[in-house]
Amino acid sequence: MSWDEVDDYYTGLLLDEDPALDAALEANAEAGLPSIDVSPAQGKMLHLLARAIGARRILEVGTLGGYSTIWLARAVQPEGSVVTCEIDPHHAQVATANIARAGLADTVDVRVGPAIDTLAGLTGPFDLAFIDADKASNAEYFAHALRLSRPGGVIVVDNVVRGGRVVDGASTDAAVVGTRRFAQALAAEERVDATVIQTVGSKGHDGFALAVVR
Ligand code: SAM
Repeated sequence: MSWDEVDDYYTGLLLDEDPALDAALEANAEAGLPSIDVSPAQGKMLHLLARAIGARRILEVGTLGGYSTIWLARAVQPEGSVVTCEIDPHHAQVATANIARAGLADTVDVRVGPAIDTLAGLTGPFDLAFIDADKASNAEYFAHALRLSRPGGVIVVDNVVRGGRVVDGASTDAAVVGTRRFAQALAAEERVDATVIQTVGSKGHDGFALAVVR
C-alpha cells in the first residue's frame, strides 16, 4: 500500500465533499500555480488546530491559491480574521478569487508583497500562525510570528523535513539551509515549547514544526 492510498482512504472517510476547496484546486491548476498546497488532511488538521484553541486571529505566510487559507478562515468564522502574505501578485489574484468563491472575502486579508515587509508592519496578537512560504526565510518569519503571538498562541511551520534532507549539514540547498537555521532558532528559543512531526502522504515525506508560545 502506498502513502497516497492511505491518505485517500482516510480523506474519503473523514473529510466531506467540498466543492469550494475542489474549485480552488481546479482554479489553481488552470492558472498554472504549482500544486504545493497542503494536502486535504493537512488542511483539516490546521482547521481543527485553530478551532481547538478557539483562534480568532490567524496569520499565514505563503498564500499560493488560498487552499490552506480557506481551511484556516473557516475555523475563525464568523467574527475572526486571517491575514495571509503572498509575494506573487498572480498567486494573490487567484487566491482572492478562490477565497471569495468560498464565501470568505470578508474574513481574509490577502497582503501582496514580500512577507518580511508585511510582517514588519503588522501588530498582534494573533492566536495561530502558519508559516509556509520561502523556506530560506523561516527563521525571520518565526521571529515575527513569535513577536505577534499571544501567550498560548500556536505557530506551525511547514516542510521542515524535506524528504529527510534537513539532517544534511553539508547541504547548500537554500531551503535546507534555511530550515536548519530555523531549527537552531527554535531550539534556542526559550519563549516556546516545540516539537517536529514527520509526515508521509500525498505530499511525500516531510513534516511540520509545532510551537506553543509560553
Ligand atoms: N500555504 C499554501 C497552501 O497550502 O495552500 C501554500 C503556499 S506555497 C508552499 C508558498 C507560497 O509562498 C507561494 O505562493 C510563494 O509565491 C509564496 N512566497 C514565496 N516567497 C515569498 C515571500 N518572500 N513573501 C511572501 N510569499 C512568498
